[in-house]
Amino acid sequence: MRFAPSPTGPLHIGGVRTALYNYLYAKQHGGTFVLRIEDTDSNRFVPGAEEYIIEALRWCGITPDEGVENGKVVEVASEKHPYGPYRQSQRRGIYRKYAEQLVEAGYAYYAFDTAEELAAKRAEAESHGQTFIYNQVSRKQLRNSLTLNPEETQKLLAETTGWTIRFKMPENVTVKMDDLIRGHIEVNTDTLDDKVLWKRADELPTYHLANIVDDHLMEITEVIRGEEWLPSLPLHYMLYKAFGWEDSQPRFAHLSLLLKPSGQGKLSKRDGDKLGFPVFPLRWVSPEGEVTRGYREDGYFPEAFINMLAFLGWNPGDERELLSLDELVDAFSLERVIKSGARFNPEKAKWYNKEYLRMKSDEELAELYLPVLEAHGVKATPEYTAKAISVIKDRATFVVDFWTAAPYLFEAPSDYIEKDVAKFWKEENYSHLHAVREHIAGYAGAWKVKAIAESLEGYIKGEGWPIGGVMNCLRLALTGAASGLGIAEIIYTTGLQEAVARIDKAFEKLA
Ligand code: GLU
Repeated sequence: MRFAPSPTGPLHIGGVRTALYNYLYAKQHGGTFVLRIEDTDSNRFVPGAEEYIIEALRWCGITPDEGVENGKVVEVASEKHPYGPYRQSQRRGIYRKYAEQLVEAGYAYYAFDTAEELAAKRAEAESHGQTFIYNQVSRKQLRNSLTLNPEETQKLLAETTGWTIRFKMPENVTVKMDDLIRGHIEVNTDTLDDKVLWKRADELPTYHLANIVDDHLMEITEVIRGEEWLPSLPLHYMLYKAFGWEDSQPRFAHLSLLLKPSGQGKLSKRDGDKLGFPVFPLRWVSPEGEVTRGYREDGYFPEAFINMLAFLGWNPGDERELLSLDELVDAFSLERVIKSGARFNPEKAKWYNKEYLRMKSDEELAELYLPVLEAHGVKATPEYTAKAISVIKDRATFVVDFWTAAPYLFEAPSDYIEKDVAKFWKEENYSHLHAVREHIAGYAGAWKVKAIAESLEGYIKGEGWPIGGVMNCLRLALTGAASGLGIAEIIYTTGLQEAVARIDKAFEKLA
């Protein structure tokens, strides 16, 4: 299997899903997962895009077996990487002979039309409300080796550098194709144009030729790719036939598009900006300096991201929703990939992250939370941090939520919300707080949230004091506000001494 992105920008989540499905299929069948960089279109090359792709796959845990080594695309073929190099621009010497082989066998021809000539043809067609297509009809009136005599052709080949090799699409042939997701497809060649396969100007193949030649040379057995390549499939079938490689031709599976959350239309980068969710795995800074957010930087766990992506257009056919990468490898099947577009649901992405957060141990999460605390100028031990996480975990979707939901687990409040003070810091309530303070200071029961809660409530109720009012004063003292975590959860985390100190401070400040 191969994932064959073009380094034209950051990898969209749809591209990551394609890579993931290739990876899952390869691993399930004991195959090899190859990363091939298709960079033959130098006009669309974006610096940094290849590094982004490699880093994104690495972050997702779907590292290629072939094609990358230590984060670099393998530059030369070797015993370990017999099919390299894996960057098409470094394979340029390979393709010309294949293109010429097709010309010799009558499946392709040389085309000498200049860019200006073709532009003029297009403009002329447009002025009649038509579209110019280089195909089996128009090629008969254009300057190519089918219309020129052999001497003229040889002369132009030798003396000019603007020519190309085009595929000679046969007339009125029904191409019969099979797609592993979409089933049988038939297309008549009369609807297809004569695609350029190789260009003399930069001595590079186009996508179609390079893709077919490389899939053949790299012995790719199955191709899973995006639906945008389905219109190219008849040409690819014709190319395999023209080369005489039909017997080893890969089987194809075209994935449907990812749709907007509304279900209307393709998920675009702009939807992410508009609706506030990332559509790229990692943050991307374009060469122009434009910043695009990524799942990694937004605080998603790679396992959650991958799990969510796998389920965009596929499911295991049972109730399970949470599957690790290894479990996905076992469960995946192309038969269960849906034909229709998969609607992207940003809420579901969050749900996955929340579930994966809950599955992690407090100690593991503490390790991830410590740098966040440090950024807030808080020093805490891993043990204390893990304890704080244990009381707040269920309320968090992301690690940063630990802080936003309850900074007071790490810092005594320095202010008290005025509106809450006005509403709850009333004498009939806070007057009991002195006694409650003593009760807390003397607590000697089990160090469990439940036990602390029962003791505190039992005491206040037993005294016949207004429980809500007293508790709100207590919460104000401990957190600076009248809402937040349960009182016992806070005391359990901070300890008795800190809780008592905060009550004293509140009396001082709110007196
Ligand atoms: N380079 C193509 C892309 O970027 C690959 C298509 C294919 O997998 O055949 O999508």
